[in-house]
Amino acid sequence: MINIAIDGPSGAGKSTIAKIVAKTLGITYLDTGAMYRAVALHVINCGKNPSIEEDVKPLLNDVNISYIKVNDENQICLNGNNVSEDIRRHEISKYASEVSKIPAVRLFLVDMQRKIAQSTDVVLDGRDITSYVLPDAKYKFYLTAKDTERAKRRFEELKAKGQEVSYEQILADVRDRDFNDMNRDFAPLKKTDDSFEIDSTDMSLQQVVDTILNKVDEINKKSSLKDKTQQISQVKDINNSVSKQIKNNRKKVKHSWFYKGIANFARWVMGALWVTRIYFKDNFPKNSKAVVICNHYSALDPCVIISKLLGKNGKVVMKNEVTQNSFVANVAKELGGISVKRGEADVNAVKSILGALNKNQPVLIFPEGTRNKQNSKELLPFKQGVATFAIKAKAPIVPMLYYKKTGIFKRNKLMVGAPFWLDEFYDKKIGDVRDEATQVIFDKMQELRREIDILVEECKGSKKRYLRYKKNQSKELCANVSDGR
Ligand code: C5P
Repeated sequence: MINIAIDGPSGAGKSTIAKIVAKTLGITYLDTGAMYRAVALHVINCGKNPSIEEDVKPLLNDVNISYIKVNDENQICLNGNNVSEDIRRHEISKYASEVSKIPAVRLFLVDMQRKIAQSTDVVLDGRDITSYVLPDAKYKFYLTAKDTERAKRRFEELKAKGQEVSYEQILADVRDRDFNDMNRDFAPLKKTDDSFEIDSTDMSLQQVVDTILNKVDEINKKSSLKDKTQQISQVKDINNSVSKQIKNNRKKVKHSWFYKGIANFARWVMGALWVTRIYFKDNFPKNSKAVVICNHYSALDPCVIISKLLGKNGKVVMKNEVTQNSFVANVAKELGGISVKRGEADVNAVKSILGALNKNQPVLIFPEGTRNKQNSKELLPFKQGVATFAIKAKAPIVPMLYYKKTGIFKRNKLMVGAPFWLDEFYDKKIGDVRDEATQVIFDKMQELRREIDILVEECKGSKKRYLRYKKNQSKELCANVSDGR
């Protein structure tokens, strides 16, 4: 079967492109996003909350998705009704993103998608097609574009349909959905190593279509050439060179396994000893670019974040004094460490940090630049690096805060705040806005300080009580507004 898999963030033009590619090749087009939208529509129609798993799961039994051909195009039906217009409503995008986080929904739809791909020549577009639905597909593409460009396209599309939504609102929604899609636990959006990436920001529709068709052609040619030239002598040659390479690399590999093993062990030990209750862990960006910041009391604080949150994809900025010893430096590297010389412009560190962000890796930075040796709840003044990186890489900042002085025999508490962007500074000269942007970041951390104090002190560390407290607070606020207070 021909299976062409196209993934990418919302609004990158996947469905328009995929439709044309399918038509050109005379095969079927399957819009998997429409399936998530149809489930979301069903949940809303039933008056349930799309982000609550217990509400959504039982409804899946009543979801029947089918297709009808209208003007030579497949349109999606939910329980026999054509809903292809309804599912395009702006608010359904957000609800689709919510239901898509629920594993039961994904498994239900992935099963349908795989069955279709097994029996039909098809172009599929979505978020997890290349990584999860069809990891063995022969043709894999990752179609992306700058978020501002994607928001602009969506805005124009909705305007043409007469839906009134502001550009700013759409941009915020696009970023929110990117964040959700890239950071959900189950089958998140990511570019697989074997996908061919196309950035369509400055490309026309036709250019993107041509690029995909050319690549499909190239892959076909390569595989037929490979078939023809698979002769014993060549296999021998390859075997010889591989075994030579293995010999050469053996020492190196052994070496790297050694440090990898130590790093894994360190992760485990740190996680086991440094007992920390983490509130709102879901806000942590596992697979997308983000500058993660945190207050800092003890040398072991970074270790906790590395072992419990950062995982193997993330990076952590460390002062180079820590990594003077080559053994420690090698282990730190395996743990994602980027060593930085303090008090000077360390070009290599800057390159590594921006490089990691551009590769969709979260980077942990302690903005105070040093440990809080007074162990006070007051934050120390922030260094300006965080603002610079977040603005240059257009990355969100995810603030985190330890409640108070951390320690090995304590029940440490850490709260992960919601991500925020410094987009008001993106088109300004960095030197002109660094101070102001750093103040914005500092204020956000102060806000988080108030929240964690409420959570731990007034709500006695109970997340449930805290959420109830927040709900009552917003109810009170609404009542005051409607009373004119
Ligand atoms: O592509 P579209 O914007 O129509 O998809 C709607 C939503 O469905 C996306 O924001 C995404 O969260 C979800 N989705 C998904 N996996 C897919 C396709 C879509 O999670 N394969």
